[in-house]
Amino acid sequence: MQIIDGKLVAATTRAQIAQEVAAMRAGGLKREIGLAVIFVGNNPASEVYVRNKIKACEEVGIKSYLCKLPEDSTFEDVAGTIERLNQDPDVTGMILQLPIPKHLDENKLVDLIAPEKDVDGCTAAQKGLLWTGRDSLIACTPFGVMKLLDFYNIPLEGKNAVVVGRSNLVGKPMAQLLLDRNCTVTLCHSRTKNLAEVTSQADIVVVAIGKAKFLKANMVKDGAVVIDVGMDRDENGKLCGDVDFADVADKCSYITPVPGGVGPMTVTMLIANTLKAYKQAN
Ligand code: NAP
Repeated sequence: MQIIDGKLVAATTRAQIAQEVAAMRAGGLKREIGLAVIFVGNNPASEVYVRNKIKACEEVGIKSYLCKLPEDSTFEDVAGTIERLNQDPDVTGMILQLPIPKHLDENKLVDLIAPEKDVDGCTAAQKGLLWTGRDSLIACTPFGVMKLLDFYNIPLEGKNAVVVGRSNLVGKPMAQLLLDRNCTVTLCHSRTKNLAEVTSQADIVVVAIGKAKFLKANMVKDGAVVIDVGMDRDENGKLCGDVDFADVADKCSYITPVPGGVGPMTVTMLIANTLKAYKQAN
């Protein structure tokens, strides 16, 4: 069994990005490379995520702009900010930090982001490109999972891949990316019957459901690759994933830990997408 080291892959990828950005800066930039983060309200978990994104930008030499809006912002307030950033040539990419306050229509706001600046791969336009097999800005977490699989040269073609969880943010794009790499993909959710039977057939299992230590050894076949997207708290309040690592690890060929697996890749791929958006725009 090999543990997939997300910290290592993230650090390696970020170092490559930093090098590329430095070379681009040395050659002279026409425009700034910049990531705008729109943060509405004061969700404490989001505070941490936003800080990490700003810090990651600094590390690789990308400019960041934090646009903080109050909890009681109206749809028009947020839409106006998105519109202004859409027009700003020094803003390469932007993300609307989710979740946003409940009174705001998330889908409508996300779809106001200019697709070419949608570095979180959230707009219907970018999702449509992904779904139709065209080049796109891919949602950062599933994109990060693909990077991990490739870093460890894990073969994908012809493999049975089971994705548990069908969110727009993780499960659906994850299934599409594995399909694009010629896996035979099954996408499971809360109404799936005999889930353990389905996951037990998988060469690759990706779990993204938000249920602490849900995947047990009896749900995994010997030698499977297990990717844990979950970020949960166990009974003692300790950070853990959707996979019961201690129970499952011995059966796997590869497994991601939590923390230190998929998590570090998400912000890394946001930075990678920002650089990609810059190159496409310039
Ligand atoms: P979400 O939007 O809440 O979606 C959860 C999905 O899991 C739904 O499709 C749901 O099915 C399915 N599900 C729930 N209980 C299930 C069960 N018992 N059996 C089978 N399927 C079940 O969650 P998300 O945003 O995708 O996030 C999932 C997890 O990943 C969370 O722990 C989140 O914190 C974590 N996450 C981590 C990162 C990272 O960077 N590491 C990034 C994003 C998310 P239905 O559709 O039928 O309701």
